[in-house]
Amino acid sequence: MRGGSLTAAGQCLCGAVEFEIDVPARWAWHDHSAAGRRAHGGAYATYVGSWRSRFRVTRGQAAITRFEDTAARAARSFCARCGTPLTYERSHSPQMVNIPRALFAGRTGREPRYHIAIEEAPEWAWRGEPLVPLKGFPGVVWERPGRKKRGGSGGLF
Ligand SMILES: [Zn+2]
Repeated sequence: MRGGSLTAAGQCLCGAVEFEIDVPARWAWHDHSAAGRRAHGGAYATYVGSWRSRFRVTRGQAAITRFEDTAARAARSFCARCGTPLTYERSHSPQMVNIPRALFAGRTGREPRYHIAIEEAPEWAWRGEPLVPLKGFPGVVWERPGRKKRGGSGGLF
């Protein structure tokens, strides 16, 4: 990244959709909300927030479909071919487009230092607890039982 026009490019899993933003992005954040969790199928979603005017779809606009979440006053777009989440737009900040950080191969100019809806994080999400190799399973590490100190009922998972 050098010169006068700095961009960060990203794509969906299948490659049908490509996009770019001007960098640095406005900000980056972790979304622990239940809605974000479902939309991504993951423990949480990490977004890069870009000004809409600095976001461009460079390939595959026709492959993008949208889900309007009217109750949440938000819209999510995704690749109709591979299902990769692409944008998350909230009506209360219409000038911003939030893009999953994971879709960018390179740097975006912002570190994700902020957390939204941390109180909605599920108890099964990994929070940096120590991990050790699992004997007999190369490539697998695990969290030894009995280390959870999150309070709660002590129930099974
Ligand atoms: Zn795709």
